[in-house]
Amino acid sequence: MTICTTAYLNGAFCSAADARISPFDRGFLFAHAAYEVTAVYGGHLVDFGGHVARLDRTLAGIGIPNPLSGDGWGKVHRDLIEYNALSEGLIYLQVTAGSYGLRDFAGPDEFEPTVFLYADEKPLIGAAARDGIKVIFLDDTRWKRRDMKTTQLLSQALAYRTAREAGADTAFMVEDGRVTEAASANAWIVNGEGHLVTRDLSPSILPGITRAGVVDLLEGSGIRLVERAFTPDEAAGAKEVFTTSAGAMIAPVVAIEGKPVGSGKPGPVTRQIQRLYYQSMGADVANVAPWTMG
Ligand code: PLP
Repeated sequence: MTICTTAYLNGAFCSAADARISPFDRGFLFAHAAYEVTAVYGGHLVDFGGHVARLDRTLAGIGIPNPLSGDGWGKVHRDLIEYNALSEGLIYLQVTAGSYGLRDFAGPDEFEPTVFLYADEKPLIGAAARDGIKVIFLDDTRWKRRDMKTTQLLSQALAYRTAREAGADTAFMVEDGRVTEAASANAWIVNGEGHLVTRDLSPSILPGITRAGVVDLLEGSGIRLVERAFTPDEAAGAKEVFTTSAGAMIAPVVAIEGKPVGSGKPGPVTRQIQRLYYQSMGADVANVAPWTMG
């Protein structure tokens, strides 16, 4: 494969080697992006209509306005073929939710997409087609390895947007009738028996560092911890609910699906855990968080 010299970035043709985007681009930070790859043979696009239709559907599904309409995509593709004198190979296109100089999950109401295309010269009817290829079996883990803290954050970015539209701050993610975790935090409940419940560690959730810190602090606190999955109904009916993350520390959840959790105010177990955690990091709790002193 050979990357051709002329690429396209945000409305203009440019040198592929000089094309630059911001590290704050949501494609880079959250994998908030769509892409297509179209074959070029004899200088002509192959099955192009299908690629443009799928791109349109993907963009609609991930909340990015389609930056080119009608034959706009066709023209950019044909121009790239012409500028690079491409006879056989691929045109790669990527549309991301763009950059606005911040990293926040939900992002602005309307995105200004980043659009990037390049041409790749390579034989399409070559050795693999002639001689065949070899395969192995692997578990399909797309994306089931949430225990790894990767930037595959598109689901979470979309969850934050949906939560915002619903007047909420975040979402509890549910799989097979059980809460896995919050969109970017671990989820905890205090159940009717007064036990603190949080999901056990597995590839289904991120092993939160704050979660581990809270678990350590529970020793000798008199609070009984149970590590198991819980249902959305258990969360909605819990006495207290909170989340843990480095970004928001211990965040009391006061409403779920528009209904108050417990009294509708942060509860005593949550306050105790906040106090212990803040103290453990050296905060002057009496001053900065007197509301945890009860
Ligand atoms: N779970 C998810 C999905 C997260 O994204 C995060 C933090 O970003 C957490 C849990 C909490 O992890 P930590 O306490 O290490 O910040």
